[in-house]
Amino acid sequence: MNAVGTVVLAVVVAVAGVAVGWRIGRHRGRDEGFPAPPSTSSTSRPLGSWPDFTQVLDSLPIGIVIVDGNGRSVHRNAWAAKFSGTHTGILLDATTEPLLQRALTGEESRQQLELYGPPRRIIAVSSSPLPGGGAMATIEDETERRRVDAVRTDFVANISHELKTPVGALAVLAETLLGETDPEVVNRVAERMVEDSHRAARTIDDLLELARIELREPVANDRVDLNGVVAEAVSRTRPIAEQRDIRVGVLDIPPGAAVAGDRRQLVSALGNLVENAVKYSEPSGEVQVRVRIDGNVAELMVADRGIGIPARDHDRIFERFYRVDRARSRDTGGTGLGLSIVRHVADNHGGEVLVSSQEGEGSTFVLRLPGGVRSHQPSSNETSRP
Ligand code: ADP
Repeated sequence: MNAVGTVVLAVVVAVAGVAVGWRIGRHRGRDEGFPAPPSTSSTSRPLGSWPDFTQVLDSLPIGIVIVDGNGRSVHRNAWAAKFSGTHTGILLDATTEPLLQRALTGEESRQQLELYGPPRRIIAVSSSPLPGGGAMATIEDETERRRVDAVRTDFVANISHELKTPVGALAVLAETLLGETDPEVVNRVAERMVEDSHRAARTIDDLLELARIELREPVANDRVDLNGVVAEAVSRTRPIAEQRDIRVGVLDIPPGAAVAGDRRQLVSALGNLVENAVKYSEPSGEVQVRVRIDGNVAELMVADRGIGIPARDHDRIFERFYRVDRARSRDTGGTGLGLSIVRHVADNHGGEVLVSSQEGEGSTFVLRLPGGVRSHQPSSNETSRP
């Protein structure tokens, strides 16, 4: 169990201890005619200000089952009770009861339960003796944490693989340089080394950007002018557009068009879409960027007439490190992270990113963001060439 888990469990044990003590105490108190609840402090507090510990337990996002010293059920909080009478509840009871019996003998224990669903769930049940007698079991749904762990492990494996390739190539090239005297070969190898080191640097930059965007918080909620976002995204891609002689046209931005969001993230997302449109177009091609406000949704569209994307890959291109054609992506200096960044930015803004594309015909990506507004001035057209 991690540190946070340990602290939560310690608090729960304390609350449960007080709750069970109080409940048993109240029960005895009634039998013996004593007033309840007992006052532990010298200053007397009005009865109404005492927290109701059963309510505290009911508000926890985990299941709690408490038994007294004879194994009789004292409390089952709301989370644990919601499974009563269900198939899951029967399986949970079958796991919890033996653990509670063991806890009554002073032994702490833990067991994992896999429910095959659907949905498939992983539940962890732990039991421990309570300080004032009796025992407690906690029931935690660990499905989401396990999923996040698996994604993280997968991600680390992918990063290692992605960085291993250029770093391995650099080592081989450096070895070739050792003792090489032909200036032509030295030049050629050095050029390759520059390319590979830039590729590794780009992957690291994109990973840092993705990590920052994935953190989700804090996503600024500023009024972001979409004219400015488009201008900056297009200007970022100017060098690569010039290199490939691609014309980037900006059409129909309604004056005053804006959304609520994080300017830096929006520039990053649109910049990635424009850069892809440029990278995957044939030289001397054309790319169009357009903004529309549809109701209260802002649509940022990037269209190209490039190589297009096969239909079977439309869902997968937003995954990290996924490329339709690895060789082409390598040639264009792609990291395979651009569209993951776009998708995360869309998620962070409560929006979505859509693609329509046909192999050999071109692609259109649309970033749809809620909270779009426009001023009531007439619209103007503008076209820019890098
Ligand atoms: P990359 O850095 O490889 O471009 P992305 O995540 O930005 O990574 O895109 C994933 C893959 O989707 C690319 O490798 C490419 O195969 C495909 N792709 C993205 N945008 C386009 C486009 N406009 N035209 C054709 N293919 C594209």
